[in-house]
Amino acid sequence: MTTGALCFVDIAVDPDEMNSPEMIRKKALKKAEMADGPDISFRIIRRSVDARSRMPGFILRVALGRVEPPGPLESPFHPRKPGDFRVVVVGAGPGGYFAALTLLEYGIRPIVLERGKDVTLRRKDLKQIYSQGRVHPHSNYCFGEGGAGTYSDGKLYTRSTRRGDVGRILKMFAAHGASPDILIDAHPHIGSNVLPRVVRGIRESIAGAGGEIRFNACVDDLVVQGGKITGVRVNGDEFIPGDAVILATGHSARDIYRMLAAKGLALEAKPFAMGARIEHPQEIIDRIFYHHSPRHPGLPPAAYRIACRVEGRGVYSFCMCPGGYVIPASTAPGELVLNGMSMSGRGGGFANAGLVVELRLEDIGDPEDPLSAMKYQERVEKAVFAAGDGVTQKAPAQTAGDFIQGRVSRNPGKTSYIPGIYTAPLHELLPPPVAGRLRSALSVFGKKFRGFDFPEATLMAVESRTSSPVRIVRVPETLMHPDVDGLFPCGEGAGYAGGIVSAAMDGESVARAVARKLGITGI
Ligand SMILES: Cc1cc2nc3c(=O)[nH]c(=O)nc-3n(C[C@H](O)[C@H](O)[C@H](O)COP(=O)(O)OP(=O)(O)OC[C@H]3O[C@@H](n4cnc5c(N)ncnc54)[C@H](O)[C@@H]3O)c2cc1C
Repeated sequence: MTTGALCFVDIAVDPDEMNSPEMIRKKALKKAEMADGPDISFRIIRRSVDARSRMPGFILRVALGRVEPPGPLESPFHPRKPGDFRVVVVGAGPGGYFAALTLLEYGIRPIVLERGKDVTLRRKDLKQIYSQGRVHPHSNYCFGEGGAGTYSDGKLYTRSTRRGDVGRILKMFAAHGASPDILIDAHPHIGSNVLPRVVRGIRESIAGAGGEIRFNACVDDLVVQGGKITGVRVNGDEFIPGDAVILATGHSARDIYRMLAAKGLALEAKPFAMGARIEHPQEIIDRIFYHHSPRHPGLPPAAYRIACRVEGRGVYSFCMCPGGYVIPASTAPGELVLNGMSMSGRGGGFANAGLVVELRLEDIGDPEDPLSAMKYQERVEKAVFAAGDGVTQKAPAQTAGDFIQGRVSRNPGKTSYIPGIYTAPLHELLPPPVAGRLRSALSVFGKKFRGFDFPEATLMAVESRTSSPVRIVRVPETLMHPDVDGLFPCGEGAGYAGGIVSAAMDGESVARAVARKLGITGI
């Protein structure tokens, strides 16, 4: 037996033991074969839910020995006094805001231009989508301060761990108001009720360090002289100069893609995935994935990630929101797009997820047209809207059972989707490469996870903004666009990220590339 020295052990605890520091200590000491003593302390450094057995619990990684108690959280943001360089950042999503933070660490002054409103005013426009079906083209679930991630689930899990320092991004969120739990959870999550506060805190850090943020500032043109960018044009007339421009406009800025294409700048069509959102009562998901319902009160609502292959294409769950809400994520009048979100407590009565089919360029249209995937996405979203009342964001829906059988539901079931649903033949409304594979996949999932194809599970359309349908080309060594000196495509809209954390990491990488380009080094 050893004493004192620091060691790390993984232990399994049940949901009751999770709240007992004595039990955790005892189990960790036993696993480490360490004698207890007055100078021994412990700290949980990783926590994940383990639902493999019939009695789900937690796996904890515990540091044991002379462990320092956690001190006050230190902010990883260390700005320098801005010098003469000024860089335009287009878009105040995670890509744009983390680019701005990093620019300030190099002493470069960012001016962030955001087409939407600040995070508080934005909320009023979201309410209008529910109450009147009116989608504001600059202020909605995708556009506005904080970007597409603000009124989302705020899952901070990423598989792109080699693209940057995930730990630093999480610390930045925690330093700006997210729960410190995100630093230990294997699947960290912030929640839609907390995210606005975090976004506001990041804005205050940027402004406090000398950056500028302007809302209601829609960039509609790039100003290029002799192959070099000199700035951007905003709201049709105002010229905003910059030594470089970071374009972090997200996957829904179709006007930006069209503007770049009209200028003949290098773009590529990018495959994406499309399908429907499926919603179950949370208790059914708990029963399937925890093998129990009601679940133990110490467990979070069950989450899932499922995938299979049908006719050469992947079909998989996307952006699963336990205890969440289905929301209208359309960005323009006359289209219908669904997505999901949840609050920090994930206390809603439903679980929802996108169920999407991988599309390849050969499924979508003209591989020579860089906007062909975007046009396909747009056509389907408009067709789904047109199938409804032509006014509201009511979503066409069908029970999973009827979708598999190819018959219209008499009653599409209950939903968390506030604009409401109406019964419709999704098997005909969704494009054939999507509908056919989704039907087969639902049967496969139903066999693998008994009850998943529960006849009363509700499918709604359309889930189409899974990733960017366009890639804005950049040179890997400089992260700059090959045709315009000083133009830096960034984040999900440029095709280099697929979530909050990866977009934030890309923002940091791009800001470092800008600093190199401007000849600033040394942080
Ligand atoms: C409802 C929903 C839920 C989601 N849930 C999660 C989740 O739980 N976890 C996760 O990791 N990801 C989630 N995502 C995806 C995530 O939000 C995005 O991957 C991420 O926000 C991309 O960051 P970004 O900065 O590249 O782009 P965005 O966040 O899209 O930000 C782009 C910004 O640019 C602005 N903009 C666009 N055009 C212009 C212009 N012409 N001029 C000025 N400004 C412009 C937009 O208004 C927007 O604020 C969700 C997305 C949605 C819509």
